Amino acid sequence: MRFLSHLTLAAAFLLAGPAAFAQTTSVWNNKQCAVVLTYDDAIDVDLDNAIPALDSAKLRGTFYLIGSSPVLAKRLPEWRRAAQRGHELGNHALMHPCDGSLPGRGFVTPDNDLSKYTVSRAVTEIRANNTLLTAIDGKTARTFAYPCGDRQIGGVNFYDQLKNDFVAARGVTGGLQTASQVKLDDIDCYSINGQDGKYLVDLVKQAQQSHTLLVFLFHGVGGGHSLNVSLAAHRQLLRYLKAHEKDIYIAPMVEVAERIRVAQQGGAARK
Ligand SMILES: [Zn+2]
Repeated sequence: MRFLSHLTLAAAFLLAGPAAFAQTTSVWNNKQCAVVLTYDDAIDVDLDNAIPALDSAKLRGTFYLIGSSPVLAKRLPEWRRAAQRGHELGNHALMHPCDGSLPGRGFVTPDNDLSKYTVSRAVTEIRANNTLLTAIDGKTARTFAYPCGDRQIGGVNFYDQLKNDFVAARGVTGGLQTASQVKLDDIDCYSINGQDGKYLVDLVKQAQQSHTLLVFLFHGVGGGHSLNVSLAAHRQLLRYLKAHEKDIYIAPMVEVAERIRVAQQGGAARK
């Protein structure tokens, strides 16, 4: 344990007793766990429903944007203002290519079939999307989310060439992980479609008990996508997070992943 945080924790121990001492983790900003709210695909409801709900609770999330989305083009100043208020504009590729050779991928068009891409084309398009996002928000550090969770082209992990372009990448596998368990090139998340508010809050309580990272993956919020969470369930989650902000570290993926990266390197990067 680093001695600065040791002093802080010692003070917390004296004030709150052994239970509180045991239940905080320095990588989670001296709170019990971390929660990251992510929203995929650059859709209207991000700007119409999700961001207003987050802003009114003074919470920040990560929005994984597709560079070719018409909603990005049409509402660019709104995305810029969202970034200025602290939301992360994450990279969800320029064209959202998914592997059309996998079962259940009838929705993949020939133009956007990752199995027909070369690795260098995937890498180049994702870098071009970073350039676009930097032009919008002025930032150079951000995270990536694999479209459809697909990580490989012909058996090659294309993100291996992008590790220096991103702080981390989010996958689609469900799971809660401690900071040492997190794979920064494939961070777990819970993909939400139709679950109620109690389910969402119960996941947060599990993360609090296990001192882990919990990442939510939303698409539609109150409609706008075939994968959806109701406004009521989303509101119930935000209300719980806000009420327990002292115990739960809630931040965009780029900030949480950077803390994990430093912790996994044994704190060597912290000066
Ligand atoms: Zn997507």
